[in-house]
Amino acid sequence: MPSDHPIHARIDGAIVMIGFGSIGRGTLPLIERHFEFDRSRLLVIEPAEAGCADLAARGIAHRQVALTPDNYREVLGEVLTPGAGFCVNLSVDTSSLHLMRFCREIGVPYIDTVVEPWAGFYFDDLENAERTNYALRQKVRDEKAANPGGTTAVSCCGANPGMVSWFVKAALLRLAEETGAEASAPADRDGWARLMQTLGVKGIHIAERDTQARDTPRPRDVFVNTWSVEGFIAEGFQPAELGWGTHETWFPENARRHGTGSQAAIWLNRPGAITRVHTWCPTPGPQFGFLVTHNEAISISDYYTVGAGASPDYRPTCHYAYHPCDDAVLSLHEMFGSGRQQEAHHILSEDEIVTGIDELGVLLFGHEKNALWYGSRLSNEETKRLAPDQNATGLQVTSAVLAGMVWALENPNAGIVETDEMDHARCLEIQTPYLGPVEAHYTDWTPLQDRWQHFPEDIDESDPWQFRNVLAS
Ligand code: NAD
Repeated sequence: MPSDHPIHARIDGAIVMIGFGSIGRGTLPLIERHFEFDRSRLLVIEPAEAGCADLAARGIAHRQVALTPDNYREVLGEVLTPGAGFCVNLSVDTSSLHLMRFCREIGVPYIDTVVEPWAGFYFDDLENAERTNYALRQKVRDEKAANPGGTTAVSCCGANPGMVSWFVKAALLRLAEETGAEASAPADRDGWARLMQTLGVKGIHIAERDTQARDTPRPRDVFVNTWSVEGFIAEGFQPAELGWGTHETWFPENARRHGTGSQAAIWLNRPGAITRVHTWCPTPGPQFGFLVTHNEAISISDYYTVGAGASPDYRPTCHYAYHPCDDAVLSLHEMFGSGRQQEAHHILSEDEIVTGIDELGVLLFGHEKNALWYGSRLSNEETKRLAPDQNATGLQVTSAVLAGMVWALENPNAGIVETDEMDHARCLEIQTPYLGPVEAHYTDWTPLQDRWQHFPEDIDESDPWQFRNVLAS
């Protein structure tokens, strides 16, 4: 029976997926749906017993092994097809830099959803500056600069980082059109940066509200989330980081700059998952988000820079402002309050979630129309109709992986790219059928509104969109 899902490309050679956690599980059916390939050439590398049992039950070939700095070349060398196939890295605790370098050496297209380091990095005894995403990303950017072109490796292509960079471009064009500015898509990075500057955008929140919930209360001592608990704890303990815009007149006391690299971002000497910011999403309106570090906060500020270095002509502020699902908020509260990580982890499945949506978008602020939120408002209910084996959070990520794979196959010699550097229209064309309502919402809210009026605060009333006002005391 013919499928009603479009086949986007044919993949010859081995398709190797690394990691079969919540994102791997959700990506698999999309690969099966949208690519023509030999199923006997699909293989998953996964160290966990449960994941391997699941793969065996689905009739998917797998290797039960954890990749390490010592074995990755040998393991991948045995299973990848030089010059063909695809390597889809959806694991934790593997070095994205090393894996993409090896894949490019042997001519295999590669994709991942974060710049992941080898096991141990996040909690090693490193200086905080070295534990930043800035440091992780810069190594990938240095690799790109040292080895331009060559086999395509897509870095950080999930929902965020990933899809949100495509939303920034879509939102800019919308804003241009609705403010009477030139609204055709610029041809290059410089053009996009100048468009954002011309439109007067001071900054961007990656503004997310996850309202997915099950009907039983969270048990004590269990960290509950809608995606990787391990991944969230790791990034939550990294220093808070943000792309640092040229409109900022204040500098936080605990903030630090970087001496090398793009200089597009700063970091705060404090974990991101207990650093709160004032932000806005369509469902709740004003809300607190956590300033958890993410690659896109740095890449977007870097991409939209006019000029260069520490004092460019223009650069937007950019950071994540994440309200995870309520059970995850409670889990963070318990973890940071007790000073120890919960040993039990739980990712909410699509079948136990009884209500809620993942509302994930970009809030472009400081321009003529104040602020524009543009993003996906995907419910768990709709997700179950669209694709199997994942909740709404998962589908926003896995459909971006799908789009990134298609783009890589259509652009096989693009070298190392971030999602800012890809054709947003083509990628969203592939991804949007999986995103539920994708909507634009203007708001007149600013961080000066809806605050607690009874206590003094160190804010700047002359300029609503200063980070000084966004950062909650
Ligand atoms: P998960 O914790 O559910 O699964 C991770 C998988 O990696 C597990 O199955 C684990 O056994 C496997 N693994 C662990 N060590 C490994 C090793 N050394 N070699 C091979 N496999 C190993 O995580 P998830 O929710 O599936 O997320 C996967 C990755 O995607 C994480 O890095 C996460 O940060 C990232 N992610 C990105 C986005 C985004 O929007 N960009 C969103 C969600 C998750």
